[in-house]
Amino acid sequence: MIGIGIAGIAGRMGHLLAAQVRTTPGATLTGGIDRAPAANAERMLPDIAALAAASDVVIDFTHAGAVRAHAEALTAANTAWVLGTTGLDSEGQEAVRVAARAIPVMQAANYSPGVALVIALAERLGAALPASDYDAEILETHHRQKVDAPSGTALAIGEAVARGRGHALAGAMESGRHGQTGPRQPGAIGFASLRAGQVVGEHTLLFASASEQITLQHQALDRGAFAAGAIRAAVWLHGRPAGLYGMPDVLGLR
Ligand code: NAD
Repeated sequence: MIGIGIAGIAGRMGHLLAAQVRTTPGATLTGGIDRAPAANAERMLPDIAALAAASDVVIDFTHAGAVRAHAEALTAANTAWVLGTTGLDSEGQEAVRVAARAIPVMQAANYSPGVALVIALAERLGAALPASDYDAEILETHHRQKVDAPSGTALAIGEAVARGRGHALAGAMESGRHGQTGPRQPGAIGFASLRAGQVVGEHTLLFASASEQITLQHQALDRGAFAAGAIRAAVWLHGRPAGLYGMPDVLGLR
């Protein structure tokens, strides 16, 4: 039996995760933590250290500001970490890398299996279609509560395109165009973000040359796909050696 704890259990994802863990064969819900009161956990624990001590794996969908403290507590307890939180700054990402030297860490900007495939295809498109001829643009739409932009998933798609082209995203990213931008920079990877209503998550990757266009689009219809993917990742991660893993590992894509 795998003991799964949920950080952020009162949140949108936390609610779904708690419900799905309860019905997952071979898994048991050890408890949850949240800054807000939660009615959906039999056992609310006082902090991340207590949750880590009680769990084999902690599934974490909270806030980027919590990542460093969570990395330290999970490392100290030797507890596996499925991290879903997005919007990490470079220090937060470094804390994840350091933790992964000591404990198994699964990190995905998007736990839906369909998005993992879009990311894999984005890398292949980037490798096959030269930047000199094909412009790559990524459009993402999310609900009005989302606090970071572009979405972690959009960035992961952009990173995959850049990887396919043999360079890092950082120098090629063009985001939030406005005003007198001048013509498109050759080789740029463009990002645009829409925030509206309760859209769960839509991502479109467009490759366009002078004579053809290819569009890959993924729409999440509800958050259940993320919760199911994160629990599948938790079951896969349990008992693995320390390291930083991703959904391609869970899905056998590499
Ligand atoms: P939410 O705001 O509904 O839930 C987050 C919960 O975390 C809240 O209940 C909040 O009180 C709690 N929280 C925040 N900081 C905390 C802390 N330090 N300690 C304990 N609890 C804390 O948000 P959500 O829609 O559930 O998303 C949460 C995060 O997951 C965001 O970063 C979002 O972008 C990300 N997300 C990732 C995926 C994915 O597949 N990787 C999918 C959906 C959302």
